[in-house]
Amino acid sequence: MTDRSLVTCSVDFDQDGKQSGYLAVPQSTNSAGWAKYFIPIFIIRNGDGPTAVLSGGNHGDEYEGPVTLMNLFRELNTDDIRGRVIIIPMLNHPAVAGGTRLSPIDGMNMNRAFPGHSTGTITSMIAHFVATEVIPLADLVIDIHSGGSSMHMLPSVNMHRMDDADQMSRMLAAGRAWGAPYVFLYRDIAGSGLLPSFAEGLGKVTLGTEMGSKAQFGVDMLRHTSRVRNVLHHTGIIQKATTDPGTAEPVIVAADNEEDYVMSPASGIFEPFYELEDAIVCGQQIGQVHSLEHPDRPTEPVVAKSDGILFTRRSIPICRQGECLAVVTREVTG
Ligand SMILES: [Zn+2]
Repeated sequence: MTDRSLVTCSVDFDQDGKQSGYLAVPQSTNSAGWAKYFIPIFIIRNGDGPTAVLSGGNHGDEYEGPVTLMNLFRELNTDDIRGRVIIIPMLNHPAVAGGTRLSPIDGMNMNRAFPGHSTGTITSMIAHFVATEVIPLADLVIDIHSGGSSMHMLPSVNMHRMDDADQMSRMLAAGRAWGAPYVFLYRDIAGSGLLPSFAEGLGKVTLGTEMGSKAQFGVDMLRHTSRVRNVLHHTGIIQKATTDPGTAEPVIVAADNEEDYVMSPASGIFEPFYELEDAIVCGQQIGQVHSLEHPDRPTEPVVAKSDGILFTRRSIPICRQGECLAVVTREVTG
């Protein structure tokens, strides 16, 4: 057993200029006893300065990050920046290629795999390399997500609430700089091992996003996502201000309580009664679940347990008991 990563990297983190290469993850499969799985990685460096680590495709069915970050690498020139930008556009590459949230190779969720294991499965080995060799280099960590296949989301930059007031204020300033309509303060209701939690724990200025959903993927959401450049400018990495600053003063919302996350009371077909941004009050019926087995019976009501606006709603009509149907957020002061 060793803690040292078995993943090799074909780019040099300390070399000036633009480089495109691969992380090579050792594999042994039915079709090749000796193999490497290649994960693309880009670096742009121009002398000393802050380092940003940008990732997309942490969940494979969220394509806003991969498209935005591949465009960013093509469009940025070395002279445009000071410091360093490290981009992993398709962190869970097997899942991006397969169109699935989880890895089709080992069934793992990359965003529950951190800090990973040097001798784990492919997802765990990628997480371990990023946790030990990449994130420690960063001043700024940005992990681009959307609602993927299952959730429609209002376009937002997001983060946990930090105990460290200084770190929280630096994260909020970076979040505001994006120019997204919302900054969303969230809590974890479905496990640990998130990439952002790991980076936050190292004291890094860390931003996540929720940029729509797979069904909302298109011109509008990609425009919101491409404003990641504004954060790189805010951090002093991109030297020239962008021509697309976005929303000057985003609304800061929070879903701090377990009750803000509405889980399905039954399995069946979820019928929503409200759309994103609608005002919701505690006790209000926000939808209903129709039984597949007993369609003649009364529907199961879905009731909000807090006040606010509908920030997220399920995009797949079929649901299982216990799956998230909606998230209600409230405006807070930063
Ligand atoms: Zn995601």
